[in-house]
Amino acid sequence: MHVCLINHTPEPEKTIAAAARLCYSRVGADELMDELTAEKISSLLEKLTAKGHHSPLEHASFTFAIQGVSRALTHQLVRHRIASYSQQSQRYVREDNFDYVVPPSIAANEKAKEIFERLMMEIRDAYRQLAAEVPVEDARYVLPNACETKIVCTFNARSLINFFRHRLCRRAQWEIRLLAEKMLAEVRKVAPTVFGQIGPPCVMDGRCPEGEHGCGGYKKQG
Ligand SMILES: Cc1cc2nc3c(=O)[nH]c(=O)nc-3n(C[C@H](O)[C@H](O)[C@H](O)COP(=O)(O)OP(=O)(O)OC[C@H]3O[C@@H](n4cnc5c(N)ncnc54)[C@H](O)[C@@H]3O)c2cc1C
Repeated sequence: MHVCLINHTPEPEKTIAAAARLCYSRVGADELMDELTAEKISSLLEKLTAKGHHSPLEHASFTFAIQGVSRALTHQLVRHRIASYSQQSQRYVREDNFDYVVPPSIAANEKAKEIFERLMMEIRDAYRQLAAEVPVEDARYVLPNACETKIVCTFNARSLINFFRHRLCRRAQWEIRLLAEKMLAEVRKVAPTVFGQIGPPCVMDGRCPEGEHGCGGYKKQG
């Protein structure tokens, strides 16, 4: 899996702080970005968190290019509606020699790996035969969830925090959790205050919403 932060709002934390400043002071539009020191930015960002005033976070966006992930992963990813996506097409790009993602549990089990790899070869073969007979958009119906794909996605910071809360949980599916960890590492480089303390609900709220399905890692104090 390769995750690249290919673009983001310039000075994302300053932009968010400027939006917050407009809410809390009489400063005019032309001066909004002036004299916003690192201390002021940090204090405005802390104020937003303390108040639960999250809409200014929507003014900073982050665009990721992601490759070497499965269609099983991207199906989960695109459920996050407050984001924009562009994914490699299986209508326009032929998949004769498609690569596929092997889950670690399968890679570690000789019998499972043998079954899995044999089936991938059979699917490749069936796909090629079908693609010679029918349009590629129909031949793709036999392709597996394991098929590797590429996707570009753009999230604003508020939506990204929601994504991290859901997908950094130890109970999240392993591939999307790995993706969330890699995306978090990228955005922390450019917006360390906004994303410094982000984690699953047990880290951020001190409680686990998973109930009996929790990982057991979170122990309620007292
Ligand atoms: C552990 C786990 C298990 C899951 N299991 C399943 C499953 O079995 N089946 C399944 O279908 N999905 C499942 N999902 C997907 C889940 O239901 C969400 O679709 C996904 O996590 C996207 O979250 P979201 O809606 O918060 O994100 P976004 O779509 O990005 O939305 C962000 C926020 O905007 C608001 N919002 C967005 N759209 C609306 C709307 N139409 N109306 C009101 N508010 C809105 C909500 O506050 C939402 O939290 C699972 C997710 C997780 C993390």
